[in-house]
Amino acid sequence: MRTGERCSPRTEDAGSSLAEVGSSPTGNAYQPTTAVPEDTHWMQHALVLAERACNEDDEIPVGAVVVDAEGQVIGEGWNRNIAECDPSAHAEIVAMRRAGRAVGNHRLVGCTLYVTLEPCAMCAMAAVHARIARVVFGAFDPKTGAAGSVFDLLADPRHNHRVAVVAGVLADECGQRLRQYFRGKRAGVGTGAAGADGEGPFPTGQTCG
Ligand code: ZN
Repeated sequence: MRTGERCSPRTEDAGSSLAEVGSSPTGNAYQPTTAVPEDTHWMQHALVLAERACNEDDEIPVGAVVVDAEGQVIGEGWNRNIAECDPSAHAEIVAMRRAGRAVGNHRLVGCTLYVTLEPCAMCAMAAVHARIARVVFGAFDPKTGAAGSVFDLLADPRHNHRVAVVAGVLADECGQRLRQYFRGKRAGVGTGAAGADGEGPFPTGQTCG
């Protein structure tokens, strides 16, 4: 399935001119679907976590952070699939698991999930189940993105809960980091399991298939 018709327009200007995806969700207090000033700050934080995926675990550099309604970090994560032998250990899942433990609740009501790459279907649905209020992502994933690029799960009106989405915050930085990683893999640096295939904008970071 190629990029869907509902794919959000790209932005070349990191941190500004942000695409809106989704709408004010049902059953969720109003959440902005355009970037607010702190979004850039938290995306930079997620980028630092993405570096840990690459530097500490030689995994695809995707980072995620969950911030509660008071602006406190309650969960951080980066890709840990290989290290954990866990197909579900995407950065978002790791961050949401930690956040759930931190607050003692499987619902993360009022929280924002920041992630450097558009969530896949698994992570998008986990965000819906967790009642995440907003998802803010960096680079688009034209192969498996589930926040508008291929699927639009976060804004699907059939869910009881919809998640406000802000797309493309620091998209260039996030995408460049992924491209750099895959270029390194193609050049034979390391033998990570992540795709050395594909010539798209970047080989999909968190391939789910
Ligand atoms: Zn995912």
